[in-house]
Amino acid sequence: MADRLQKTANLFARMWRDYLHPYWARIALALVFLILEGSTLGLLSWMLKPLFDRVFVGGNTDAIWWVGGVIFTLFLIRAMTFVINRSLMTSVSLAVSTTMQRDMLRHIMALDGDFFQKNPPGALIERVQGDTIAVQGVWSTFISGAGRDVISLLSLFGVAIAVDPMWTLAAMVGAPLLILPTLLVQRYIRRKMRQNRVNASQRATRLDEVLHGINAVKLNRMEDYQTDRFARIVDSIRRGQIKMSAIGATVPALVDIVTGLGFLGVLALGGAEVTRGERTVGDFMSFFTAMALAFQPLRRLGSLAGTWQVAAASLERIYDVLDLRPAITSGPRREPPPDTAIRLEDVRMSYDGHPVLNGLSFTAEAGHTTALVGPSGAGKSTVFNLLTRMVDPDSGQITLGGVPLREFDLGVLRDQFSTVSQDAALFDETLRENILLGHPQDDAALRRAVEAAHVAEFADALPQGLDTSAGPRGSALSGGQRQRVAIARAVLRNAPILLLDEATSALDAQSERLVQQALDGLSVGRTTLVIAHRLSTVRQADKIVVIDAGRVVEEGNHDQLIAQDGAYAALVRLQFGET
Ligand code: ADP
Repeated sequence: MADRLQKTANLFARMWRDYLHPYWARIALALVFLILEGSTLGLLSWMLKPLFDRVFVGGNTDAIWWVGGVIFTLFLIRAMTFVINRSLMTSVSLAVSTTMQRDMLRHIMALDGDFFQKNPPGALIERVQGDTIAVQGVWSTFISGAGRDVISLLSLFGVAIAVDPMWTLAAMVGAPLLILPTLLVQRYIRRKMRQNRVNASQRATRLDEVLHGINAVKLNRMEDYQTDRFARIVDSIRRGQIKMSAIGATVPALVDIVTGLGFLGVLALGGAEVTRGERTVGDFMSFFTAMALAFQPLRRLGSLAGTWQVAAASLERIYDVLDLRPAITSGPRREPPPDTAIRLEDVRMSYDGHPVLNGLSFTAEAGHTTALVGPSGAGKSTVFNLLTRMVDPDSGQITLGGVPLREFDLGVLRDQFSTVSQDAALFDETLRENILLGHPQDDAALRRAVEAAHVAEFADALPQGLDTSAGPRGSALSGGQRQRVAIARAVLRNAPILLLDEATSALDAQSERLVQQALDGLSVGRTTLVIAHRLSTVRQADKIVVIDAGRVVEEGNHDQLIAQDGAYAALVRLQFGET
């Protein structure tokens, strides 16, 4: 329990340091207004003493005006401070959640591939949006709601003690009843809330998968199956929330009972004193009103008992992500490599203990085209991922221009490569934005790229030209068109090394010719590595590297390898149906 408390306190302390601290001035100002607003309740009950003793009992009608004036002013102050507080706190809590969302996205983007393997997009979306908003909501209710209520209670308490300390004690007879249930409820809500956030992640993941795979869902008639799975998740969220709200309501309910007991106690003790004339009616009314006014804030605070656990659960999930450190990090070198020769030496690499590359070694000469061929699953794409450091090898050395990859700044390293593949990630933006990718270029350069990549052929025929939307994930374009957009990107990037993943699915003859022309133009003068699926590409390559089971089995040019009549010749017969 103490451990938990310590951990939660640490979480909130970190949040203060990382996110709230810059706004301390605004928070301090809000606190001043909170104190003002909260203390009006105490003053209000205090004013009842002169109201009763002087006006009602004393018969002094003049006092009506000044007492009434003071009471009205108190309400006026409450109204104004409420508005000021609300705007101050909203501006702080929104600023905090916005900064958190931005930080999380930036941080998540820097994490390694295996993180994304373990955390599906839906779950991550839920973390960035759902968790930060959960923290934001609680934070604002906490400060503006709980803060004001605590101040109100303190001021009412002050009035109560000033009127009669013994009555105050009597009013609190039931208070110890609250302690244990409050602690238990907090623990319960924290546990449930964590489960609830996990369920919310699953809900987002299911939605993401269904909506992205909508065609597969329809074609395989999975609608009922997916609906059932989704219904089970939302149902368990619903059940969890009902339980949380029922259990959470027990504390405010107990506040009712405890207050009832308090009234009884005060009546028993104070009622007798007033009738005996030891205390005035004003004293009693003042005290009674303070108690009555304390009732609502106390109840609200009771229902907040679980609410801050909600923030703790989400905050924990946010920091779980922010505390992850990527294994793939930038090196110090910011100059580009002296040349673009690529060398792999005895590279070994595995995914989750399953070996994929088993001592792979080859060289791709600068300015030449090297074709990687081999059966599916041989490890060809893994080579691309290693070169761009999407993954790092378990052992072995990879150099670019003689410099180990790890020495480069990641941005500088990735700037050396342009990758073109058919499943190029297109965004739901215009063709223009999909080609520029956030790096502005002048129109002439864009036009040259669009023409070189044969994008112009189809873009110019569209009513909005380059300003046509590519659709979600580029779904408004055909495979060949997507690939040509990817080529246009590569032309603009003008990186010295080209990584080409040839399409496995057949393009129609016309598309294929255009794509081929565009690629040929692009690879001129660049170091090119191509995962080849077309015989024409392999034939033209300066060097062919045949990979099987994560190892190089043969190396040479087409004629040499055919003459050897080994693995390559067999592959050519199998894959291309000819020799
Ligand atoms: P190729 O491009 O030659 O078809 P890949 O390099 O894509 O082969 O894959 C090589 C092996 O690595 C395959 O057995 C594949 O299942 C495995 N693999 C690739 N990516 C991952 C991953 N992210 N997690 C686990 N295994 C992977």
